[in-house]
Amino acid sequence: MNANEAVPIDAASISGSSSDSSMSGSSIDQNDYASSASSVSSGASLTFEQNAKEIDGYTTCYPHSTSFQLGEHAIDDIRPLKVAVVGAGLSGLMAGALLPVKVPGIQLVIFDKNDDVGGTWHEHRYPGVRCDIPSHVYQSSFSPNTQWSEEYTTGPEIRRYWQDFAKKYDVYSKLRLWTKVIGS
Ligand SMILES: Cc1cc2nc3c(=O)[nH]c(=O)nc-3n(C[C@H](O)[C@H](O)[C@H](O)COP(=O)(O)OP(=O)(O)OC[C@H]3O[C@@H](n4cnc5c(N)ncnc54)[C@H](O)[C@@H]3O)c2cc1C
Repeated sequence: MNANEAVPIDAASISGSSSDSSMSGSSIDQNDYASSASSVSSGASLTFEQNAKEIDGYTTCYPHSTSFQLGEHAIDDIRPLKVAVVGAGLSGLMAGALLPVKVPGIQLVIFDKNDDVGGTWHEHRYPGVRCDIPSHVYQSSFSPNTQWSEEYTTGPEIRRYWQDFAKKYDVYSKLRLWTKVIGS
């Protein structure tokens, strides 16, 4: 049989093979596994692609060949995860506050080319700069400011709000300012 042929597999044969003595011990002989898959040829109710291949002494055939091998570690072991966020505007600040809470083991760095957080609100300083939607909806839902000075507040007040937010959620400790990302 061609190793790349699609092999029809009989569901009854699959359930039968689990009671097969070659599959019932504490270890499974890889050759038994390969031959039991290739010997099934009729009564098709399920179809899988067979692509039997020897990799590092193991025959892989289901559902396709792979070099993946199970790691030896507990399912709840936390592995370190390096994450880089580009920009400490509103989006980066939200990421800086929420990701450490939601992603165990995260090693987060937030890069920004500016000298402080706030993005748009840090950069735009022209007279009269302000938001064009009501202030109370232009803020974090989990850290609301109930004391906006105006319904459509000014740029400096928004900038202060987001700088305070960054302090409150310890985002500054993850920041690398004055750093422009030019590639990855
Ligand atoms: C005057 C004005 C009023 C606005 N009013 C409203 C409003 O009322 N409601 C609304 O929803 N939106 C408004 N906006 C839009 C506002 O830009 C967005 O709501 C918000 O700022 C987007 O945040 P952000 O973090 O995605 O991007 P930004 O605030 O643009 O932040 C991006 C950050 O990424 C950094 N950065 C970019 N490239 C790099 C790089 N290569 N390396 C390192 N750092 C980098 C920048 O320095 C910046 O700090 C307004 C915008 C302006 C200019």
